[in-house]
Amino acid sequence: MTVESYDVVVIGGGPAGLSAALNLVRARRRVLVVDGNRPRNAATLTAHGFLTRDGISPLELRRLARDEVESYDEGEVVFAQVTGLTVSGSGFRVVASGVRGAADIDVLADTVVIATGLTETLPAVPSIRAYYGTQLHSCVECDAYEKSDAPLALIGETHDLAERALLLTQWTSDLIVFTNGVGTVGDDDERTLARLGVSVERRPIDDVVGERGAMTGIRLTDGTEIARSGGFVRPLWSPSLSFVDDLDLDRDDDGFLVTDAAGRTSLPGVYAAGESTEPGPQQLIVAAGSGAVVAAAVNRDLIGVSVERDAPVL
Ligand SMILES: Cc1cc2nc3c(=O)[nH]c(=O)nc-3n(C[C@H](O)[C@H](O)[C@H](O)COP(=O)(O)OP(=O)(O)OC[C@H]3O[C@@H](n4cnc5c(N)ncnc54)[C@H](O)[C@@H]3O)c2cc1C
Repeated sequence: MTVESYDVVVIGGGPAGLSAALNLVRARRRVLVVDGNRPRNAATLTAHGFLTRDGISPLELRRLARDEVESYDEGEVVFAQVTGLTVSGSGFRVVASGVRGAADIDVLADTVVIATGLTETLPAVPSIRAYYGTQLHSCVECDAYEKSDAPLALIGETHDLAERALLLTQWTSDLIVFTNGVGTVGDDDERTLARLGVSVERRPIDDVVGERGAMTGIRLTDGTEIARSGGFVRPLWSPSLSFVDDLDLDRDDDGFLVTDAAGRTSLPGVYAAGESTEPGPQQLIVAAGSGAVVAAAVNRDLIGVSVERDAPVL
């Protein structure tokens, strides 16, 4: 049996992976994009801030991008979840299980671009998911404009809540930080926020409450209900990288892939783009830009223009 072979297999078909693929097919590379098709921003109906596509549906943005990649003879996109990535000869073997009725994949690649994004864990508040993507968001730059001047909540359990709260004062002067009894805001930060009219609520949250799907407030465990029409959540972020466990790839303390500025990982032939590398700034256009940078490095390295890690892409 002949196993199909590609110049590049891109794992993950979000803006990072599809942008890498588009630039690589235009460099006449034979490219297969293998995508589990679970967009990070699936919870929302509109995506903001992508130049020329402000307000587009996230699914439509991806469909347009897939169509662009597949309009080239060299480009192919399949829906499958990669379960194995191993070294094979001078290249790599990629194994994936088909999703939504698509076929399983078992292919070879000279190089691999990992663009599988990240996974979010929200604070364990029962109804938080029901409002996430519509009235509660995580990306301030993406969604704060639509919440201008509204009474907002910032919910989180981390140590960077004050910084995010300060950022949000650009959009509203009616903000309450909810630490859920876990997150921390130091005394100095709390004084700074108080001067800007932002208060900190440290009592644990019982639930987010609403009427007919519209968020109306936050209920604390002591029964107090605080009116809020929406706001922001600080999730915990972790990379979606279970399939790389067999490879010797440098990872940072949070498990994200460590790369040079052009997206080369510590293993020659394996590259990473978008939010597989680090969580932030988390925006579609940033991820797409990162895919283009990585594509330029892959193409140059395949030619042999530059093969050294840290070699600049000129
Ligand atoms: C609720 C919400 C709203 C947002 N709104 C905006 C907005 O308005 N504007 C904006 O600019 N940004 C927004 N973002 C941020 C934006 O979604 C991310 O910055 C962007 O999606 C990151 O792109 P990416 O390509 O790195 O990863 P992703 O878009 O997450 O794509 C990764 C892809 O890899 C696939 N994948 C994962 N594991 C595997 C595997 N093992 N095998 C195959 N495929 C796999 C996934 O299914 C997914 O399709 C929002 C995020 C959220 C959570």
